Amino acid sequence: MTATPAKRLFIKTYGCQMNVYDSERMADVLRPLGYAPSDTPEDADFVILNTCHIREKAAEKVYSELGRLKALKQEKAARGGGDMTIAVAGCVAQAEGEQIMLRQPAVDLVVGPQAYHQLPELLARTARARGERLAADFAPDAKFDALSADRAVEGPTAFLTVQEGCDKFCTFCVVPYTRGAEWSRPAADVLAEARALAERGVREVTLLGQNVNAYNGPGPDGEIWSLARLARALADIPGLDRIRYTTSHPNDMSDELIAAHGELEALMPYLHLPVQSGSDRILRLMNRKHSAAQYLTLIERLRAARPDLAISGDFIVGFPGETEQDFEQTLSLVREVGYASAFSFMYSPRPGTPAAAMAAPTPEEVSRDRLLRLQALLTEQQVGFNRAQAGRTLPVLFEKKGRHGAQAIGRSPYLQSVHVDDAAHLIGQIVPVHIVSGAQNSLAGQLRQPVAA
Ligand code: SAM
Ligand code: SF4
Repeated sequence: MTATPAKRLFIKTYGCQMNVYDSERMADVLRPLGYAPSDTPEDADFVILNTCHIREKAAEKVYSELGRLKALKQEKAARGGGDMTIAVAGCVAQAEGEQIMLRQPAVDLVVGPQAYHQLPELLARTARARGERLAADFAPDAKFDALSADRAVEGPTAFLTVQEGCDKFCTFCVVPYTRGAEWSRPAADVLAEARALAERGVREVTLLGQNVNAYNGPGPDGEIWSLARLARALADIPGLDRIRYTTSHPNDMSDELIAAHGELEALMPYLHLPVQSGSDRILRLMNRKHSAAQYLTLIERLRAARPDLAISGDFIVGFPGETEQDFEQTLSLVREVGYASAFSFMYSPRPGTPAAAMAAPTPEEVSRDRLLRLQALLTEQQVGFNRAQAGRTLPVLFEKKGRHGAQAIGRSPYLQSVHVDDAAHLIGQIVPVHIVSGAQNSLAGQLRQPVAA
């Protein structure tokens, strides 16, 4: 955990008991971001006016208070005391919306009564707009952080970071706070690095990004390049035969990228596309901004473009308020999609994220039981997918030596690990392999067609 410098939060509450309660909730969601309550607005780093609309002239009172705060904000900045963020919450915020910011530009945020759980997100966005990072009490959790830093991998495969950060603000996730806003590397830099890798014998690159399919980097032609366009340019690099990318968000799966899966031979038929839950209610609470049906339609469209596409995903069980019925909807989505592989996690509250302050946490034993049931189904699907490869001939990129003699281990187009005897001399090459059998985590193959018994 990073130590968080204490920041001061002043909330002025107008009106009814409901507002008093809401002010306490706002203080609660901001505490993990390092905000400690203060009794006065002088010197506060964050001032919230939690307003009431019930009486006439309430809005006028708010504007005159905002005038005083503006003066304090300017004084604080002039003294080198840093920025003061000013927010208007409550019913006046609801009634007047962004108008408030037009009339009083010192206001940074306007947040209606239904959106207090979004305060961390709104605050992070404001800090970003000023070029600051939120010094939150967040520690990225390696367990959930599928992305590793860009590292040159020994052998014929390599990771290549093309995008960082995330603007999605799923309510369970720390990434938007810890990694900052979405940012894409210039395409020319990515292409130069990929060419250098290909010259060193790399045959396959995996493009990395927290939301890699949101890639929109400046291109060498002055245009903004999408991930599909970047993949097409990478596919033209001599020697680079395979392209993968991870991790993708369903909402950034563009028509162009879907079509690329049908058109671009180098784009491997494997896609990691997390859905997290099959329940629309939970997806809403997670702020995923898509429904289960939209995800399923997307999968259909992807499979129409590339019928053998292997789908992988991420799932969270035991999100706050998840009922047995919600969980069963996840199971039924899994059955409908048929996953080739997947990662599944028990929900774990991350301090400062909106979900951590949500009511109705799921008891641990319930989450554990659901995780086991989900994993049993996902394992069954993975084993089924792997076994179904028996009898096929698949192009395998051999990556490294195996444990026995001259055995070599490579990858199928579907990212399955393939073990082949007497193939160590083929490391670095893509070779047709006859698949003999499939198990949970790997396939066994032979270089020569097995002779029928
Ligand atoms: N950007 C990717 C996406 O949109 O799904 C995933 C990035 S996240 C680092 C990797 C996975 O960790 C998520 O898909 C989610 O399933 C899991 N995860 C993140 N925060 C979690 C939490 N608080 N509790 C449980 N699982 C979590
Ligand atoms: Fe962003 Fe993925 Fe985290 Fe959602 S789960 S906030 S999309 S990194």
